[in-house]
Amino acid sequence: MGMILCLNLLFKVAQLCLNKLMPAPKLYDTLSKSIKPLTQTKARDFGFYACGPTIYAEAHIGNFRTFVVQDTLRRVLELSGIKVKHVRNLTDVDDKTIRGAIAKAIPLAQFTQPWGEKFANDCQSLNLLPPHVEPSAVDHIPEQIDLVQTLIDKKIAYVGADQSVYFSINSFPNYGKLSGVDKIEINQSHHPSKSSSLDADEYDKDHISDFVLWKHRKDEDAEHFWQSPWGEGRPGWHLECSAMSLKHLPHGIDLHGGGVDLCFPHHDNEIAQSEAATGKPCAQHWFHSEHLMVEDQKMSKSLGNLYTLNQLNDTGYAPASVRYALLAGHYRKKLNFKFDLLKNAQNHLKQLGKYQQQLIDLSQSPATSYTELCVQSIDSLLINNPFASAWEALLNDLNTPEALGQTFLTLKQLDKQLKPNSLNTEQAKSYLKGLSLIIAAFGWDVTLTESETTADIPADIHALAEQRLQAKKDKDWGACDQLRDQITAQGWSIKDTPDGYELIPQN
Ligand code: AMP
Ligand code: ZN
Repeated sequence: MGMILCLNLLFKVAQLCLNKLMPAPKLYDTLSKSIKPLTQTKARDFGFYACGPTIYAEAHIGNFRTFVVQDTLRRVLELSGIKVKHVRNLTDVDDKTIRGAIAKAIPLAQFTQPWGEKFANDCQSLNLLPPHVEPSAVDHIPEQIDLVQTLIDKKIAYVGADQSVYFSINSFPNYGKLSGVDKIEINQSHHPSKSSSLDADEYDKDHISDFVLWKHRKDEDAEHFWQSPWGEGRPGWHLECSAMSLKHLPHGIDLHGGGVDLCFPHHDNEIAQSEAATGKPCAQHWFHSEHLMVEDQKMSKSLGNLYTLNQLNDTGYAPASVRYALLAGHYRKKLNFKFDLLKNAQNHLKQLGKYQQQLIDLSQSPATSYTELCVQSIDSLLINNPFASAWEALLNDLNTPEALGQTFLTLKQLDKQLKPNSLNTEQAKSYLKGLSLIIAAFGWDVTLTESETTADIPADIHALAEQRLQAKKDKDWGACDQLRDQITAQGWSIKDTPDGYELIPQN
């Protein structure tokens, strides 16, 4: 008995040590409103479904904030040893795509194809890992029709007076649990025959009603329709994600992502469709990223306040800098787009590239690539590694700003050892491994294009600026002033900006 107790104790201690070495990545879940670990069930891949773009125009960097954040999380999962199956759809039929095709008098596929290609090219420039499956709505019409039929058979959907098919939200008691609309009193009638916007794909919380699954053909659809048991028509927008996730992730969605604007109605409707059809949870974990803003308004096509990757590239900011800038704020907070963000990103990437090269030279070994790192044990890599705290920040609700702060603090330590040439080969190797891990997780391309010429901010100045930023957050004004003095004494001035700070060399 005593022996068994002793063994149990040993096992627990070993487990604790292991957990301490390798905490699982944790992430906020919009549904349970709590931070939960992300773990893989050994038997199958970790299913990650992300709502993709509507391919009717060039995606802007607001859209890409969401996709870059998702890519970074996928990297953290894969680097942690989790085998991910990433599915991201393409919306190639909806009001906007149809309007575009009609305006150009070309078939729908001919209209959407170049926008799909442009999106793929932009993703590549931003170093986004390609999803394992990229299904399109048009390629899944039979699957969508089958899903509608299942919901009709279960008496959860019905054919309306206008011959469109609707989901009856009163037949699904948990309707609205993700966004919380289940808690608000819905004054107007739910039934579409009493509502004017009954078959709109996009609507707000004031217009909650039964939502459309299959839209009966209208004059404005021209020749863009498909045959179905309910006549000619086309799928409603929300339907495609349920049909495609059920097909491509048949064991369920472990993690479902999208921008916060998709919570309602898109994701609440997706939950209703999938859960009503299968009786199983639609997703284990909901991951929503906040918006990229311009002067306190969401960057969006409708407001016209957008920037594309091409526009920024033409003004001298490569996609690598855009990627860095999009990760400068925490994904659960709005991020205000400013050119200062890009300028800082350029400087920081240049720094990172310089340190990486120095470490490569000193250790006489190459940087480790993303693919190599994915198959290495993260535990052994991080034992006593100077970049462990930067990595831990990424595991902790994908805290990218904290990880950046930790990375530059570590580089400041490194700088202290580089100057007197006191770093031995083994130490250089350890630094290089840790830095390679951080570079791989952030998906940085630290080799910048020629057009990006920047002021070279030394790591110690940058670290002082980061410490000052922290002191500001802690309202330690004495430390703030002291740190400003130290920065000034070394020939730099620091300017506070809404996003942090800007460092300017004094001539
Ligand atoms: P769309 O092409 O409009 O369907 O959007 C594609 C993705 O971009 C969705 O996940 C949206 O939530 C997201 N998105 C749209 N605008 C922004 C923005 N300003 N900031 C962050 N994500 C956005
Ligand atoms: Zn979706």
